[in-house]
Amino acid sequence: MRLGIFGGTFDPVHIGHLVAAQVSLEQAGLDKVLFMPAGVNPLKVGRSIREGKDRLAMVRLAIEGAPKFEACDWELTRPGPSFTVDTLEHFQQLYPQAELFLIIGADNLQILPKWRAVDRILEIATILAVTRPGFDLTTSAETVLALRTDLSDRVRYVDIPGLNISSTWIRERMLKNLSVEHLVPSKVIRYSKENSLYERIGD
Ligand code: ATP
Ligand code: MG
Repeated sequence: MRLGIFGGTFDPVHIGHLVAAQVSLEQAGLDKVLFMPAGVNPLKVGRSIREGKDRLAMVRLAIEGAPKFEACDWELTRPGPSFTVDTLEHFQQLYPQAELFLIIGADNLQILPKWRAVDRILEIATILAVTRPGFDLTTSAETVLALRTDLSDRVRYVDIPGLNISSTWIRERMLKNLSVEHLVPSKVIRYSKENSLYERIGD
C-alpha cells in the first residue's frame, strides 16, 4: 500500500488542500490519502484555532464521497503538540508493509528544516512537495536536501496550478461576511455557519 499523509490545521479545509491531495494521489500512485488535522501545531502555538472536532468534521464533509480520501483523528486524540516525525513513526509501525508519503505545500517545505528530526522524516517518508504561490519549490527543496544528500530522491515535486488561497484569507472573508463559495465546499460552509465558527477571527 502506498499511503499519503496530509497533515494540516484545516481551519477550515479549502480547495487548495483538496487539489493538492488529489494531484499528489495521482502523481505518486497513492492508494489512500489520510487528511490529518493537527492537535496543537508546535509552530502555531499561541494562536487560537477552532476545536479539533470541528476541523475534523469539516474535513469529513469536504472529502465525503471521495473513495481514496480518509479523515484521520490520530493527532487530535493525542495530548500535546503533534510532531510529524511521531505521526510517521506511528503509521510505519501500524502498517509495516506500507510505503509512506508526506504531502506538504511549498511553504512548509521551506520551513521543514525547523521541524523536529527532519532527517528521520526523510528516512521514513517520501515528501510530496506541492506548488504554492509565493514559495519556490526548488530553492526550498535544496535547503532540505542539503541536510541529507543521501536522501535526495526523497523529495518529489507535485505540480498543481498555483492556488493562492489560505485558510487565513478564508477566515478573514468569513469574518467580514464575504462569500467563500467556490473556495470551500458548500457543506463545509454550511457546517461552519451552523456552528458559528468564523464569526470571530480568533487570532
Ligand atoms: P493557514 O492560513 O491557517 O496557515 P493554510 O491554508 O496554510 O492555513 P494549513 O492547514 O496550514 O492551511 O495547511 C495544510 C497543508 O496544506 C500545508 O502543508 C500547506 O502547505 C498546504 N496548503 C495549504 N493551502 C495550500 C494551497 N493553496 N496550495 C498548496 N498547498 C497548500
Ligand atoms: Mg498554513
